[in-house]
Amino acid sequence: MILTACPIISTGSAAANAAPVSAISQANKDIKAQAPIQYRIQARLDEKKMMIEGSESITYRNTSKDTLKQLVFHTYADANLSESTQTTMFKHSNEEISKNNPDKKPEDFLGGIDIEKVTTGGQALDFSNKDQAMSVKLEQPLQPGESVSVQVHFNLKIPYGSQRLSYYKDIINGAHGFPVMSVYDEAKHEWDTKPYSKTFETDYYTSADYEVQFNVPDQYQVVMPGTITTRDDAETGRKVVSTVAENTREFAFFASPNFKVDSVTRNGLTVEYYYFDNQPGKKKIVDGYIDQAFKAIDFFSDKYGKYPYPEFRIVESYVEGVAIEYSRLIQMGQIGINSAPEQDTVFVHEIAHQWFHALIGNNSETESFLDEGFADFSKVYFSEKQGDTMNGFKSIQFDDSTVDKAIASTNDEVGDWASPVYYDKGRQAIYQLYRSVGEEKFDAFMKEYFKRYVYQNATIDGLLQTIEDVLGKETRNDMNKALYDPNFVLKPEYQLSNEEKTAYLHDQFQSLYESALTQVPNVPFETMSRVMDKALQGEPLAIVVSDQVSKSANKQQEAMVNQLTTLLDLSGVKYDVIRDRQDLKQKMKKELATSNLIVLGSAKSNGFVQALKSSIMDRANHIGFQWKTTMNQPSVAGAYVIKHPYNQNRLMLHYFWNEDHLSSGSLEPFMMKMQESTGFSSAYYQYYMLNKTGKVTLDKKVENPLSKLFVEE
Ligand SMILES: [Zn+2]
Repeated sequence: MILTACPIISTGSAAANAAPVSAISQANKDIKAQAPIQYRIQARLDEKKMMIEGSESITYRNTSKDTLKQLVFHTYADANLSESTQTTMFKHSNEEISKNNPDKKPEDFLGGIDIEKVTTGGQALDFSNKDQAMSVKLEQPLQPGESVSVQVHFNLKIPYGSQRLSYYKDIINGAHGFPVMSVYDEAKHEWDTKPYSKTFETDYYTSADYEVQFNVPDQYQVVMPGTITTRDDAETGRKVVSTVAENTREFAFFASPNFKVDSVTRNGLTVEYYYFDNQPGKKKIVDGYIDQAFKAIDFFSDKYGKYPYPEFRIVESYVEGVAIEYSRLIQMGQIGINSAPEQDTVFVHEIAHQWFHALIGNNSETESFLDEGFADFSKVYFSEKQGDTMNGFKSIQFDDSTVDKAIASTNDEVGDWASPVYYDKGRQAIYQLYRSVGEEKFDAFMKEYFKRYVYQNATIDGLLQTIEDVLGKETRNDMNKALYDPNFVLKPEYQLSNEEKTAYLHDQFQSLYESALTQVPNVPFETMSRVMDKALQGEPLAIVVSDQVSKSANKQQEAMVNQLTTLLDLSGVKYDVIRDRQDLKQKMKKELATSNLIVLGSAKSNGFVQALKSSIMDRANHIGFQWKTTMNQPSVAGAYVIKHPYNQNRLMLHYFWNEDHLSSGSLEPFMMKMQESTGFSSAYYQYYMLNKTGKVTLDKKVENPLSKLFVEE
């Protein structure tokens, strides 16, 4: 059913243009209404060769006003014919996998689809399949409103490694496996024949009805969208897993002999998590995720439009650095034993894609903002309403960066800037819209947008038209500008003030440090980054600089003080800098006794160290640091952290060198190491020593097991 928007008669006033939502569209779409495309797929997995043999029957209804002489399918599986057409997104993962699996040859990482024949009513049809697009010449032109059925027979080779379509360890990732109809562009009178993006996503499909019968070995669990049933196959040791999924954006499957499934039903919706039961305590985390999924689905159903399907599935996989949305199911990476479902905003972003990709489709090759911008805004909207101030609206208001690209850019135009443009700036433009009209009107607009485009493909033009119809011409013009002008920044009145920014960063850092130090077991009390953690929690902090030093040493010390205080100022941490002995003496008893300390400079010229040498040596002993020997080694530099010499609840972190000053070549590595040591991204340091050239010669640290790839959503 096609929805027609009522014409709005312009009276010249923006307010008058904002018709009440109820007047605009009354029609409700029915999930059961037949989609213009039906796929019937029969496939058989050869798990030894990692091949799938299949036949696919497609019934296509011409919903355009053009007469069509051919049908065009995407054969994205062919992106795997050569490394040069595979996505760069998984390049790093595959290099790692290759290193760890030397028996796998480069060609094992490739695959593709071989189209055997295409027929209609038993008659062979001419077809050509190249550059991931298969065009099939129809016997008779297809008139508007008419339908045609064709059958495609194919053999699919699944590549090894990490791809949307690949096998690795005990899982098969099955997206882009089967030929899928291209979307016909009525305005341009052409089919979309673009190959799959090498850098981003190119998922643009007509919502369709799927019936799939998948013949697999008995022990396999298969995750697919829709209502899944299983029956035995005539062949022993095999079974047929079938699904029926109506009005579904795309078909993707995941299969593994080792999936365990956790399933919860509430109010007619079943949420299932397919996971590997390979660590104790995992079920509890999975339960937490399922809970979170219900919360997010309820929230978006309430705000935008009801999630119409009876099920939603989540799949654990070995994918690294990304999580991927498919219709009615999402693919996540491995569940860490320290995973906190309520903090996992990537998870919520993927769920939001059910509305912005699966239900409301769009061309993610040319208008990625429509799915990524809205999914990311929705993630933040959800966090805000959950009372999560860190991940709520402040995270959008904080961002005053600019990118010299328009939010409405195509994938080609955006290049490597997809994340800041589509996600960060995209969600910010939507937030501006939200602020400018208020929550009630914004929600009403979103409901109308959903109504118009559910099971359809939206466009930015369509979005703007909906804004105009619901919120008025002026709001449309504002949004138009936000999306099409480069360098979008949030209007100043919606940004955080400088004080709010500092406070926000402070809280952000505080929670980062807190989780970094608590999520990893066996991090000792005497750990350099804990000094930052304690300061962020509000304990006093003093920086004590060596005072009886040469000009060169003084200059270096000041550069270090500057580096430290820049970070502290940025994160709103209060501190005191003590530069001379008089000041030191005065504060020794009271202020310094309750402070955590960062001591800078050679031990011989530092008043604090000299005054408390024997206690410091004692404390250093406790962490296994040979204080006296080290301080007497010429040209050694480094750092150690110990308990405060006269307050065991505080820490003292000493950045030292034994010469008068650092050589010009070692200053830079010394300062970089300083920065690293107070962070936590690679390791938690107790002490380290550097040689003349700034190279680490000895250290004691706890590696951070969580220092992994940045996650793309
Ligand atoms: Zn996304």
